[in-house]
Amino acid sequence: MPPGRIGTALLDVLIGDGCAACRMPGPPLCADCTALMPVIDGHACRRCGHPWPDARDACPQCIAGVAQARQAVRYESPVPEAVRALKDSRRRALADLIAVIMAAHMAGPAHGAVLVPVPLAPARHADRGFNQADLIARQLGRLWGVPVHDCLMRHDGPSQRGSGAGARRAQVAGAFHALGRVPLHAVLVDDVVTTGATLSAAARALRAAGCARVGAVSLARVVLGGAGTRVG
Ligand SMILES: [Zn+2]
Ligand SMILES: [Zn+2]
Repeated sequence: MPPGRIGTALLDVLIGDGCAACRMPGPPLCADCTALMPVIDGHACRRCGHPWPDARDACPQCIAGVAQARQAVRYESPVPEAVRALKDSRRRALADLIAVIMAAHMAGPAHGAVLVPVPLAPARHADRGFNQADLIARQLGRLWGVPVHDCLMRHDGPSQRGSGAGARRAQVAGAFHALGRVPLHAVLVDDVVTTGATLSAAARALRAAGCARVGAVSLARVVLGGAGTRVG
């Protein structure tokens, strides 16, 4: 979908709570905040999508076990506000908008690929009432014309919030297993990539169940700060 259609799609998901970022009455993300979306449109790692000042085939932020990962935007304002409004305020209309933004800025996967949402642990899922990655994957599947197969299960574990990279890896290692048959070419769908540890653990479970190739698409990437790592 061309970026120009984002505004039209915004009008399609009107809800009453106003903009998730600036609170202006109207759609879940207003036109001004949508225009501020920090799109990843410069050079990026061809393998994991992390933005860099130059094009490269691999980088220190590459995600183990994921053949190709892509993200539409950096995890910078107004993206965290929109993601929090979806997850914590349960504003489900934002999932459709997030999928529209992803489809506008990322090419769909190769023919034969199947989208696999990254699951929440059962306790978290029960508490929230839905899995945001599942809502995003289903809308993305409709936009791209790609099937969705919810074939991963996640075990309950401690919250990731506030954890460092090493702790995250330890928490999610072995946290996933596949349910039934898995697609030969899976593309994981999640909202935000922080360290990549979650995607890596989910990819490992898919490959252990027979998946030959695992990719990943997410709305946003937490981009390393500091000079030289940001583009644009
Ligand atoms: Zn706004
Ligand atoms: Zn990389």
